[in-house]
Formats: sequence, structure tokens, C-alpha cells
Amino acid sequence: MPERSMAKARDRRDYERTASIISGALTVVGTSDLAMRGFTAAVRKTAKSQQQQMIADWLKNYTAPGQPGNAFFKNIRRLHPNVRRRFVAGMMANFFMRDPEYTKALLKERDITSPTTILISPSMRCNLRCVGCYAAEYDSEDDLSEEMVESIIDQGEEIGTRVYTMLGGEPFVWRPLLDIIERHPQSVFLVFTNATMINDRVADRILELGNVCPTISIEGGRESTDARRGEGTYDRIMAAMDRLRERGIMFAFSATATSQNIDEITSEPFADLMVEKGAFYGWYFSYMPVGREPDLSLMPTADQRNQLRKGVMHIRNTRPLLVADFWGDGTLTGGCLSGGRKYIHINNKGDVEPCIFAHFATDNIKDKPLIDCLCSDFFRDLRRMEPFGKNLLRPCPIIDHPAVMKKVVERNNAYPTHEGAETLINELQPGLHTYAASVRDVLNPVWQNEMPWAHKWLDADGDYQRRKQRGRDADVAPDEAGEPASEEVGALN
Ligand code: SF4
Repeated sequence: MPERSMAKARDRRDYERTASIISGALTVVGTSDLAMRGFTAAVRKTAKSQQQQMIADWLKNYTAPGQPGNAFFKNIRRLHPNVRRRFVAGMMANFFMRDPEYTKALLKERDITSPTTILISPSMRCNLRCVGCYAAEYDSEDDLSEEMVESIIDQGEEIGTRVYTMLGGEPFVWRPLLDIIERHPQSVFLVFTNATMINDRVADRILELGNVCPTISIEGGRESTDARRGEGTYDRIMAAMDRLRERGIMFAFSATATSQNIDEITSEPFADLMVEKGAFYGWYFSYMPVGREPDLSLMPTADQRNQLRKGVMHIRNTRPLLVADFWGDGTLTGGCLSGGRKYIHINNKGDVEPCIFAHFATDNIKDKPLIDCLCSDFFRDLRRMEPFGKNLLRPCPIIDHPAVMKKVVERNNAYPTHEGAETLINELQPGLHTYAASVRDVLNPVWQNEMPWAHKWLDADGDYQRRKQRGRDADVAPDEAGEPASEEVGALN
């Protein structure tokens, strides 16, 4: 039996056992401060690497009496046991407790690691008609088939990926969604949704499955949400959140930051509303100039990027709400996740894209096994250069180092996956370079002077230190950004 199959069988066995132990521990942890102290002491004791010790120290402070994490863990007890076991414990088991032999075997056989998550957009259809969105132009013939999505998840599980992020369009419009999730009980599913299709029947089914976490898109308050998504949408979102909370289902929110709304989506009233409604965590994404009518003026400015970073940190430090800024928290992940380093996106046509925001591909999942798509020259080229610069507050090859995405796309002959996608590497380049320079001027001093913990964190990250030596730093050698590493690379760092 090949090493990978043996590791896989052991991984599956261990998963059930680990999830069950974690689930049991989670029910006890929230019962008292004493139990919480015991839990953090146990985590500290098992922490081996320097980074694990830093996490353990953070957890101890985060969960101390009066701190937001204390309430966060107590709230976990509110969740339905099925959700606690299948989603929360399943997520922790999949993220933190995976058999290292499994990864080693995959590395040895194909020189890749399995993505932490695979993003799939099975359909671009949607039941809403939001401003600036073209979902109305799609019909069911444009969808991925049920068999294809099933095959992607089977292939992903085969290489150890157990977290799937379902996007769209509106994922609940795609009818087989919950049936497929039911057939994959050892994986967990984050479903990014407008929430308007989460009625009592859907909420009951989500509860029964347990391994689903709806992540609900919201634009801030009623006025902003209804202005973009249509009259009455805000009330439908609130009603869906109530249904989920009353059943003990874990859910999150997702907000897109633009140059117009940072104050609103990072405000204390908005954070308090999300806590009151029962959200456990939230994602902040910044508007990206992609899609059919990209608009650079909607991107948060350099100062607003910093404001968003601080706002997210403030919420995390003061509310039982684990929020993350997809760019500003790039340090925690060691930089960009794209190209299969941590994730990939498969669109409704089957194109395998390096990132949800990079609409280029060289492979289609209908023509090639997933593992071969992950090994493509296009993805290897991107992975070999991550991180693209040393300041991980500016991690992105699309907006922070625009020359990188352009060069990688061009030299691998990647095709645009929809009409107009190529503007990103053509017409928009001058504007993106101006934007990237302004972000550099604001965020470089922040990186150097205000984030001592980030440097300590990265010094302890062996993988990051190795990767840092391989690629050309787009700041140090802007004209060569995107070129493959060579022996002179050391001189650039
Ligand atoms: S390409 Fe940009 S948006 Fe995509 S994962 Fe990397 S940093 Fe994030």
C-alpha cells in the first residue's frame, strides 16, 4: 500500500477520535474560569514549536476572566452538540491535529502540500439582484454538475483537504449543496451566503448535518445593505441569523470593505449587533478591482487599509467575535495563500484559479485530476515566489505587487476566465502601481515600528523563512518582480 494511502486510513481513524475528544473538552471548558485555566494550561503544555507557544500564550490572555475569549468559549457551550462535534471540533481536528506523516507523504510523492481549503463556486446564479452584480445573466446550464463537485471534494479529501468553502452566486440556489455536504461528514463546509434562503427548513437541515457554517454577507446597517442588495434584505438577514442562533448553529458574517464604508463596518454598534445576533466570527475582505466593471476608486485607500486593520484588531480585542482582515492579517498565515499554498478556487466553469480574486487559469478540473492542477507550472510559479515582499501587511500579488501577477500570468500563458478579466494585467496596471506605492508608503512604517509581535512570529516560522529566501522581493527589485528565483536572490534580501 503506498505511503499516502496508509497515512490516509490512519488520518480518517484519528479524525473521528480527535473530533470526539475535542468536542467533549469544549463542553467542559466553558463551564467555569477554573476549567478555562485548565484548558489553556493543557494547551501550553502540549505546545512544542515556538509559534505554538505564542498561540498558547495568546490563548491564555484571550480567555482570562473579563477578556473576550472567556465569553467566546462560554458561547461555544450554547451551540447544539451536533454542531459542536461536527463543525467546531471537526474544524479544529482538521486544522491543528492532522497527521504530519500525511503531508510528508504528499510532499515526497508530488512536492505539494494539500490546500487547507478548496473554494468552489458551483453556480453563479443568485436569487438577489445586487447593484453591480451580473448573477442574473447566468442560468443552470452554466453550473458545475453535482457529479463534478462531488468528484472535486472526493479528490480533495484524497489528498487531505477537509475544509471546503462554497461560494457563488448564491450557493443555496444550487440544489445539490446540502446533499453533497451530507455525503462528506468528515469535512467541514463554510457556505458564503446572502442568507435569504435560510428558512426554517434549511436551518433544520443545517443543524441536522452539523458540519456547515453559514457565512453571511452584510454591508453594515439596514440602509447600506438594502441599498446594495435590495429593499428588505437586511430584515431577511436578521431573521436568518435568529433562526441559526436559536438552533445553536455556528455562523459568521462577511463584510466587504470599500473606500465608502470602513467606519460603518468596523463601528462598535455593528460589532455589537453581530455579537447580539450570535455570530462567532467574521471576515473582512477589501473591495478588489475584478469582475466586469472594476473600479479602482472603490478600493480602500492606504490610510483606510490601516484603519481597517486597527478596527478589526479592536473588535477582536474587545468582543467575543473572532474577526479577521483578509489582507491585514496576512502575517498570521505567512503571507498570500494563493496557488494552492493554502487554497485554490474552482469556478462554475471548472477553471482552477489561484485565488478567488485572480481570474486566470491554465487548467480546467473537467480535463485534469485535482492533484495535477495543483502541480501546474502556473501554480508552482506563484508558490515559489510567495511571499512577494517582506511586509506582510502588503501580501497581495494582485494589488500590492501588481507586476507579479501580470508576469506570472503572462509567462505561463494563463487565460482569463471571464470576459474583461485581462484588464487586471493591462489597463488597470498603471492605477494599481500608483495604489501599491501609496499603500507601501503608509504600511511600511507601520510594519517596521508597530508590529514587534509579527517579526517574532515570522522568525519562528521555518516555512516562511525558507520561502523568503526563494523569491525576488518586489520592493527591492521592482523591475524583476515576478521573475523566478535565481542564485543571486540572496543579494536581494
Ligand atoms: S492573491 Fe491576494 S487576495 Fe488572493 S490570497 Fe493572495 S494576497 Fe489574498
